[in-house]
Amino acid sequence: MKIIDLKMFIVGNPWKNWVFVKLYTDEGIDGLGECTRGLGAKAVEAVPDELRHLILGEDPRDINALTDKIRKALFLAEDPVFTAFISGIDIACWDITAKACGQPLYRMLGGKTRKKIRAYANGWYQGPRDPGFFAERAASVVEMGYTALKFDPFGTAYMYMDKAEEKLSLSIVAAVRKAAGEDVDIMIEAHDRFSASTAIRLGNLLAEYRPMWFETPVYSLDTGLTNEVARAVGVPVASGERFASTRELRQLLSGGSVDIVQPEVLRIGGISGLMDACAVARSYNAWVAPHNAQSPMTTAASVQVGMAATNIMIQECFDDFQTDWAREVLRGYPKVTGGYLEAPETSGTGVELDESAAQKHPYGPMNCLRLFEPGWERRRIK
Ligand SMILES: [Mg+2]
Repeated sequence: MKIIDLKMFIVGNPWKNWVFVKLYTDEGIDGLGECTRGLGAKAVEAVPDELRHLILGEDPRDINALTDKIRKALFLAEDPVFTAFISGIDIACWDITAKACGQPLYRMLGGKTRKKIRAYANGWYQGPRDPGFFAERAASVVEMGYTALKFDPFGTAYMYMDKAEEKLSLSIVAAVRKAAGEDVDIMIEAHDRFSASTAIRLGNLLAEYRPMWFETPVYSLDTGLTNEVARAVGVPVASGERFASTRELRQLLSGGSVDIVQPEVLRIGGISGLMDACAVARSYNAWVAPHNAQSPMTTAASVQVGMAATNIMIQECFDDFQTDWAREVLRGYPKVTGGYLEAPETSGTGVELDESAAQKHPYGPMNCLRLFEPGWERRRIK
């Protein structure tokens, strides 16, 4: 089997342009991968201009050899544009391999370790930064069957927060805890916002609301600082969504104070990279809670690993709160039911891109979440 063509697609989701890669083979089987980032959709789309010659003619089932060849050609580069591209290629190759075997992808990864994967909701608070609004939305998310939900209550905070902002942020957390009830897990997202001293003060103030974790309270590529904060607060700290290699994961985990890590399938190297990340985490007795803030294709890819890896804690999922045309563009991705995800039993990832539906939603240069500008929570930036 040989790869005979490669096409890139950008779909203009309002808060983040989605980027997909499709590989076509001489045996008529094609594979879909995703390469979404935040900004930089056009940069990823342009990568095949220079790398196509490394991919065409290769057997898509020799996945490790192909991605290793690309990495070496890039001089082992871990630039996020390239890691997104390589991740997409890896996912598309796994999709083809599983389809060629007539099996769901997770079967190629060692089979099921669980029947279903617990999911947590994100993207559910698209509205005003107001405790009443958050409470109302949190209650409806629980009503939908979710047993866990995540949110960033900190507005535009960067490094420091004044008293009024701190009070508002904590009142949002209190309102969500009360509305969700004691049996639901809440996760507090901080998006790398804070200095160490602010992060430690906030982490300790959050303890009374018993969050499942306090996420990326400080610049998350500083794994030493993340460990210092984790040691100083009375709540678990989670990090890892920005990691592009298992090396960064090892640096974080070797600090000894973080045991929930959040690699993303589109950044850590696709299905192969996420499986590697799970193995590294397991060697530190750590849990993996895969990051997933891209298209529902990312959910579909993550879920395949989630079925197979032993140390998956919970899966992030925005899909119930995505744009209402997501299912027209992407067919076959799993739906959260009763707070859980299951991998489809169709072969491959189970997801297909409807190319004509995708064309109805073109790239938009302003389609990017600006986490330090007022109103970002609405995720409708135009
Ligand atoms: Mg995050």
